Amino acid sequence: MSFRATVLTLYPEMFPGPLDLSLAGRARAAGIWSLETVQIRDFAQDRHRSVDDTPAGGGAGMVMRADALARAIDRAAAPGDERPRLLMSPRGRPLTQARVRALAAGTGALIVCGRFEGVDQRVIEARDLEEVSIGDYVLSGGEPAALVLLDAVVRLLPGVMGNETSGTEESFEGGLLEHPHYTRPPLFEGRPIPDVLTSGNHRRIAEWRRQEAERLTAERRPDLWAAYTKGETEQ
Ligand code: SAM
Repeated sequence: MSFRATVLTLYPEMFPGPLDLSLAGRARAAGIWSLETVQIRDFAQDRHRSVDDTPAGGGAGMVMRADALARAIDRAAAPGDERPRLLMSPRGRPLTQARVRALAAGTGALIVCGRFEGVDQRVIEARDLEEVSIGDYVLSGGEPAALVLLDAVVRLLPGVMGNETSGTEESFEGGLLEHPHYTRPPLFEGRPIPDVLTSGNHRRIAEWRRQEAERLTAERRPDLWAAYTKGETEQ
């Protein structure tokens, strides 16, 4: 069964964007996943087709209205549609490889892209939206975040990556960052490839890669390293 993504946005022209190229593009052409966009503005009911209004309580900026967005969600997800409903939001739980893997194991996702100062809280609660952040910085809209999330999910769908094992040895899988990579030429600007990698000794190569992964993780990501050493890595 193919993975079905529905993106609710004020900028449907941003999709599929980069997802029509490379792995994701080929996978979509092969029917491994599908992408539908819904223009939220089509569900506004007033004369001006307004989807935003001034914040209750005052302050700068505009807020995405609950009514138009709720109607768009109801149209996009028929009764019985069990797909997770995600709202891209800097306030959300940070996206992890474990969450990406869980999403890829499902039937699809409905993804809401916020704009302005954000979305009226009542629609988040009434439509049970799960807020997901792609990092501690603020984008101007949820669309690039939705593209990031879909890119990460689609590459894990069965049949997308040529070498199926490459997905399981990567950064975050198993709680560590990945080891460094080398390829031809053997000497680049005076820098050789580490001897062990050309030794042909697979046990020593695996050991070197594990040590390098541990060293990099301890140096760069004390948070991941602490969880790994305590055996608390999210799988
Ligand atoms: N006022 C909001 C705040 O301070 O949390 C920021 C709103 S932002 C300008 C507009 C929209 O971009 C958000 O509603 C959300 O959909 C999206 N967005 C911004 N940063 C994001 C992030 N780090 N992860 C996911 N979505 C993000």
